[in-house]
Amino acid sequence: MRFDVLTLFPEMIENIAAQSIIGRAQNSGVIEVHAHNIRDYSLDKHRKVDDTPCGGGKGMLMAVPPIDACHEAVKALAPEMKTRTVYMSPCGQVLTQKKAIELSSYDRLIILCGHYEGVDRRAIDLLCDEEISIGDYVLTGGELPACVLIDCVSRMINGVLSDGECFEKESFMNGLLEYPQYTRPIEYKGMAVPDVLLSGDHKKIEKWRKEQSLEVTKKNRPDLI
Ligand code: SAM
Repeated sequence: MRFDVLTLFPEMIENIAAQSIIGRAQNSGVIEVHAHNIRDYSLDKHRKVDDTPCGGGKGMLMAVPPIDACHEAVKALAPEMKTRTVYMSPCGQVLTQKKAIELSSYDRLIILCGHYEGVDRRAIDLLCDEEISIGDYVLTGGELPACVLIDCVSRMINGVLSDGECFEKESFMNGLLEYPQYTRPIEYKGMAVPDVLLSGDHKKIEKWRKEQSLEVTKKNRPDLI
């Protein structure tokens, strides 16, 4: 799968996407992450990309023309790919595991990152298929949200996680949060690993995990039940 990120801060995307499992997936060719600087598409001699909001108000808005030109150039890099264009926005639908699975069925995501006060509405209406938020709070820019989306969608793609890192039993996959997990040492500062996990009885362990999963979900996220 290919990710093309339209941003004013491409290094933020490149640096994060080069690390850990996403970096490994890029090195093995399972995914590609490309960051494109919207400023390169400004026709202004000072490479300006923003302007004041019509009707007044504080801050600056990213203008449509450089975003449109950047999007057009990026689309043309892989016109045959089944593509969805997404704007990262606090006004979008909140990202869920279900949405990540849905987006992983595309060949390519083009992700638009806003900055400052956001982007001119016409850029969203003209170019984007949907708006996605990563939660009910406001960040300074769309770059961290874009990296969250890339990470979350990539984990659903065959070959990104190794066998030992499978996502099927993780939180949200069966509608519940994950049960508590433990590793060695068996005892630490007076805290012991629950006996059942050392019993070797797989049926009992499975039952305990289901019960714990339900408990954790009831306590932390009753809205999921
Ligand atoms: N004025 C906007 C508002 O009140 O909704 C906030 C703009 S925010 C300071 C700048 C950019 O950060 C946005 O255009 C968006 O791309 C990104 N952003 C901020 N919070 C986000 C969130 N929760 N989810 C996704 N993107 C977010």
